[in-house]
Amino acid sequence: MMRAEIVSVGTELLMGEVTNTSARYLAEQMRLLGVDVFYQTTVGDNHKRLEDTLQQAYSRADIIITTGGLGPTTDDITIEVIAKSLGLPLVLDENWLQYLRDITQKYKLKLTENNKKQAYIPQGAMALENNKGTAPGVYIEHEGKIVVALPGPPYELIDIFEKQLIKLIKNKVGGETLHSRVIRAAGIGEAALEELIRDLIDAQSDPTIALYAKMGEVHIRLAAKACSYEHAMSKIKPTEELLLDRLRDHVYGYDQVSIEEAVGQLLRQKGLKLVCAESCSGGLLGSRVTNAPGASEYFLGSIVAYDNSLKENLLKVPRDIISNYGAVSGETAQAMALGALENAGADVAISITGIAGPGGGTLEKPVGTVCFGLAYSDADRSGKTAVVTKIFHRLLIGSREEVKYRATQAALYYLWQELK
Ligand code: ATP
Ligand code: MG
Repeated sequence: MMRAEIVSVGTELLMGEVTNTSARYLAEQMRLLGVDVFYQTTVGDNHKRLEDTLQQAYSRADIIITTGGLGPTTDDITIEVIAKSLGLPLVLDENWLQYLRDITQKYKLKLTENNKKQAYIPQGAMALENNKGTAPGVYIEHEGKIVVALPGPPYELIDIFEKQLIKLIKNKVGGETLHSRVIRAAGIGEAALEELIRDLIDAQSDPTIALYAKMGEVHIRLAAKACSYEHAMSKIKPTEELLLDRLRDHVYGYDQVSIEEAVGQLLRQKGLKLVCAESCSGGLLGSRVTNAPGASEYFLGSIVAYDNSLKENLLKVPRDIISNYGAVSGETAQAMALGALENAGADVAISITGIAGPGGGTLEKPVGTVCFGLAYSDADRSGKTAVVTKIFHRLLIGSREEVKYRATQAALYYLWQELK
């Protein structure tokens, strides 16, 4: 198994002036290539510290990728320090010098002495063409190590990586790369989900199982190394089936599919029309439902009845219900859903009413209390339709914005559960 270390060079990174997006990019690419990254180091434009950092990286990694410091100015020292650390002299790359002559001529610039410095690379190294800048990337294989130097500007780095480096590293890794599939689960927290599958997590090797907590849902990434995507998926399949079996009530989709899209697919399949009735979420649920392309096939709309007067006028919530139970209550949520269902002539209605905070909470109904109503018409055996309603209560945590989002997440989960 190959190990890589990413060495980011640049005092501006250490000073917090620039976000290290390149390290994130390279780490992700290494993961996709099936190369482990155990260390990422950031070091300033300093000879001694850069050399120490490189020596340490050689001691614990097979592939060392540096970023930055390939420019023409005196603070750009990466190439000369790499050469020194490997005990290699710098030699002129005639092709690169010609390239520098060509582009400076093309843009009517003068080829400066310090520009010429960029054509010197360690002996035995390969220049990686850089169509977006003046410094070549550098690829060196030396005494069992691969050392790669990439320029600082991210668009130059990404261009070189995609066009040239992926191929070179793939050859070294031996063709096996990492392929993954994300299983998306809602209606359960990360800790509870982990409990359900702990034995599988403990026993994992290939495929690996990793949990990622997202707001209101958990993603489970299954990853396997194989020569092709199809082969990787066949390695993943048995673990996936075990997971699906245990998480049947929670897994709504895969990879990029959002829960609003999963709900949309079910509504479309069943030929049902949805309407929403929203109070504390202020239209966010309707907004999310319309994030799914083609939502007009099944979504009638969302009635945002924030003030009680609109709950009474638009959703026909009886005044008694609000005064007896409060606007945030299962009873009001139920009446909102029923009112929306009837007013809109929909097949399914879902409502949200709650206390998003930060104020407005009471001992009995603290901030984060959210009630949901679900209403739909269902035909019995004789074909007679009756309206079914369900009520859900949740206590959601987080800021006002988070409570609003989590409320829409819960509503979508209840819808999905009912529809499937
Ligand atoms: P140049 O010829 O532009 O000087 P260089 O290879 O010497 O290229 P640096 O001087 O180290 O690169 O960085 C140039 C610019 O690229 C930085 O000012 C910064 O904006 C950006 N940059 C450098 N490293 C990173 C990084 N790791 N992540 C994101 N941006 C970076
Ligand atoms: Mg520079």
